[in-house]
Amino acid sequence: MKKRLISANWKMHKTIGETEEFLRIFLKSVSLKDDREVLICPPFTSLQTASQILKNSEVRLGAQNCHWEKKGAFTGEISPVMLKDLGCDYVIIGHSERRHIFGEEDEVINRKLISALEEGLRPILCVGEKIEDREAGMTEKVVETQLRLGLSRLEDHIDSIDIAYEPVWAIGTGVPATPEDAVNVHRFINEVLDRLNPSRKRETRVLYGGSVKPENAGEFMKREEIEGLLVGGASLDPESFAKIVESF
Ligand code: PEP
Repeated sequence: MKKRLISANWKMHKTIGETEEFLRIFLKSVSLKDDREVLICPPFTSLQTASQILKNSEVRLGAQNCHWEKKGAFTGEISPVMLKDLGCDYVIIGHSERRHIFGEEDEVINRKLISALEEGLRPILCVGEKIEDREAGMTEKVVETQLRLGLSRLEDHIDSIDIAYEPVWAIGTGVPATPEDAVNVHRFINEVLDRLNPSRKRETRVLYGGSVKPENAGEFMKREEIEGLLVGGASLDPESFAKIVESF
């Protein structure tokens, strides 16, 4: 039985002091069960501190992005080697804010995935349609293209990657997808992954992300197709995130 994955994406929030405070309260208040994995993805500047605090806990550490090279003349970038060195197990790749604010394209996302896997990080590949795609009935086409291009040459490694379905119109808007809509896209994602690698072991977890809160997390997690959550805003408060972790 796969462990479900509940992940916090803090984006560009929290200083080192705020990270320490969050983790102190969160570790005290959350009750962790064996059937789920909990992941915190703070900004790069808090990784070292979080790594120290989390090293004797069951909570895993991840980064929100990485470069595709191991080292070199790439001012301002962070490599997967550096993330591994800091104690990260996971890295989020292709988040919609990376795609749509920073212009990351599927080809770059693919290179990042390859590099992260080479360093032994488990990537969470984010996919999802914009509102205009949804209104034009293009959700499946957009998600399939992101999967095919993102996972190009990685067909044999799909089991080492998790996917987050995050409809862009649901991220940070307070308007989540309905669990039914999410389930339909999650089923479709699994069909595409099966087509890319019919002999995969189905170890990939398909997470939902987009305006998840303590009040709606349980509704998503009731559905077996939803194998985890990627939580932005509601993961910034330790008690709110603990409630999401304990919502099922
Ligand atoms: C996210 O950052 O991936 C996200 C889903 O944000 P929010 O939960 O705030 O919608």
